[in-house]
Amino acid sequence: MKIVILTGAGISAESGLKTFRDADGLWENEPVRIVATPEGFESEPKRVIEFYNKLRKGLKNVEPNAAHQALAKLEEKFGDDFLLITQNVDDLHQRAGSKRVIPMHGELLKVRCLGQKEHVTSCSEDQPEKCPTCGAKMRPHIVWFGEIPFEMNKIQKALMGCNLFAYIGTSGVVYPAAGFKQIAKMAGAQVVCLNLETTGDSYTDEFIQGKATEVVPKWVKAITDAN
Ligand code: NAD
Repeated sequence: MKIVILTGAGISAESGLKTFRDADGLWENEPVRIVATPEGFESEPKRVIEFYNKLRKGLKNVEPNAAHQALAKLEEKFGDDFLLITQNVDDLHQRAGSKRVIPMHGELLKVRCLGQKEHVTSCSEDQPEKCPTCGAKMRPHIVWFGEIPFEMNKIQKALMGCNLFAYIGTSGVVYPAAGFKQIAKMAGAQVVCLNLETTGDSYTDEFIQGKATEVVPKWVKAITDAN
């Protein structure tokens, strides 16, 4: 069985990271058109860099939760027949032990330069002003609105070839990720949604409502026991 999982901000919520829509969340206090668009970065680079510096530092105060850990266990069982795609820019899946993970919207702990070669550098503190390799200006290694997510070819191929697709803790409004369930369904996969609020639709075969830390480990155990 080939499994593809898509996660969103909801899986990290119980670790203490605000989701996109949470009232009083970090994202709520800054306009998306500034902190999550290339135009915003062009007009107010300092403000954008500070916003991501703050998010990056916030990662030090959070830990992976039982849902992240359960998905790492699922990968251990299925190996190369498993792929985890995350819209999250935190590093909690990786810290929980996930290896076959595509952070399609980028990573807070990386920055890249605006030079021709777009050098990517690890960064756990404030973003450096200049690229250590070529001296060009740096930007967060984050996919902003209007930009193409990373590794779309690999994602498309995995979706077309999977038997089970689950999307977890995502509101499913940001494309192209919101369209993954449709691709998997067309390819013949069983489609499962695990989320706090009902978001079921005609592409979703099964909807499991609840907190990620409660429903994901149970669901993973059921799959592992059955295979
Ligand atoms: P979203 O905020 O739009 O949706 C989160 C979903 O998770 C909602 O449907 C909500 O009902 C559900 N949810 C909340 N708490 C939950 C819990 N404890 N258990 C299960 N489900 C829960 O987030 P999104 O769909 O990921 O899309 C928004 C974009 O914002 C993403 O592209 C992402 O890059 C970015 N973002 C990332 C982070 C992060 O990296 N941790 C945090 C906030 C936003």
